[in-house]
Amino acid sequence: MESSETVKKLSEEFQKLPGIGRKTAERLVFSLLKSQSGQASSLAKALTELVEKVKLCSICGGITEVEPCAICASPTRDKATICVVEQPLDIALLERTGSFTGQYHVLGGTFSPLDGIGPESLRIEQLIKRVKEGKVEEVIVATNPTMDGEATALYLSKVLRPLGVKTSRIARGVPVGSDLEYVDEITLVKSIEGRREM
Ligand SMILES: [Zn+2]
Repeated sequence: MESSETVKKLSEEFQKLPGIGRKTAERLVFSLLKSQSGQASSLAKALTELVEKVKLCSICGGITEVEPCAICASPTRDKATICVVEQPLDIALLERTGSFTGQYHVLGGTFSPLDGIGPESLRIEQLIKRVKEGKVEEVIVATNPTMDGEATALYLSKVLRPLGVKTSRIARGVPVGSDLEYVDEITLVKSIEGRREM
């Protein structure tokens, strides 16, 4: 593997991705090298397009190819409710349930004292600005029910309360310590329906 700098470089790039260790990275590189069907070229093309076309919406922080994103731009979505999530992927999960018709706000993570992530590293200022400027009546905090997710939710309720907006937390249908990513759609719908005020 080490006989080619290019191979080594690609393997190192793969290893920076979540869940990919050295062995898997090397397997991926070998597989691309062996592939006869132009797989490496189409992967390269898809990556270039990802970099060139896909960006984060300046309002909600979700993934989009247009600015602002379709949800933020939609005249039919409820502007009075904002659902706060950790990652752009969470928007896709909630959209798939079809049960939420408000706006979204991506934090970009949760507090993580060990990694030095506090309020200033997340998109909290932007959320406060949206609440102040818009006609927002309720903020639903849908961070994951992990310790960090709960701490972040508590912090948000504290900073939002003085702004006169109702803050609620998704219900415990979501198993403690888990990611929204691994929750089925029905549980996700129920967790929003059963949200409680903070
Ligand atoms: Zn948006």
